[in-house]
Amino acid sequence: VLSLSNIKKNFGSIEVLKDISLNVREGEVMSIIGSSGSGKSTILRCATMLETINGGSIIYKGKKVAWENPDGSIVYANKGELTKIRSYFGLVFQNFNLFPHYSVLKNIIDAPIHVQKIHKEKAVEIAKDLLIKMGLEGKENYYPCQLSGGQQQRVAIARALALNPSILFFDEPTSALDPELTGEVLNVLKDLAAMHMTMVIVTHEMNFAKEVSDEVMFMDKGVVAQTGTPEEVFSSSNPRIKEFLGRFY
Ligand code: ATP
Ligand code: MG
Repeated sequence: VLSLSNIKKNFGSIEVLKDISLNVREGEVMSIIGSSGSGKSTILRCATMLETINGGSIIYKGKKVAWENPDGSIVYANKGELTKIRSYFGLVFQNFNLFPHYSVLKNIIDAPIHVQKIHKEKAVEIAKDLLIKMGLEGKENYYPCQLSGGQQQRVAIARALALNPSILFFDEPTSALDPELTGEVLNVLKDLAAMHMTMVIVTHEMNFAKEVSDEVMFMDKGVVAQTGTPEEVFSSSNPRIKEFLGRFY
């Protein structure tokens, strides 16, 4: 459904993404792994249009999102088109990004009501249903500061799901959490994977990536060192990948 080809991204004179291609298929989970600074967050930000690209192309469900002119300049689809495509994307980042002065319920229903114009009663019903699925029944009126990190992250996931996204992007959703809270968030992601939610997950949780992914992409200094099944990547003979994985096992 989402296809990025030969993506380049510079920050000033620094080439952060040199040539990244990836293909996310409907109903599949792709994990992106690699060292700090290899460009994992940047590729997610480019894929979700939070960042503009300097080269390459992006296609979502057969629609051109961004492409290169013959002269090498980048063109993006028109604003209306981009807004529509963005509405299919759900994003969950490391630091939850919940609104601290909104209750759990308001955090979840705000965008459905104001962006998607869903009736409040319906939005509340959807939110309560999601809270049950996230194991947060009865927490509607709590404020983010009254919840554990793992609970906050599950609220952030509920908030993303409330918009009924067709693809979910996660950037290290558990890296701000204590090990004992990491498991509960990973279990939510496993449930979503079992329901064939299309997901792109940047993670440092190697066992999780191995267990849940259909495809794993290993990034190294702005390029893709290898993409393949977990079996292929985790048994790679590439010295960079072996060295990286060696830190975890
Ligand atoms: P980590 O595992 O630590 O999250 P990462 O693989 O997600 O790392 P990125 O955040 O994508 O790495 O960063 C890749 C490189 O791009 C880094 O060298 C970083 O300093 C640089 N970079 C990222 N964002 C910007 C920015 N807005 N301006 C300048 N440089 C940036
Ligand atoms: Mg990152």
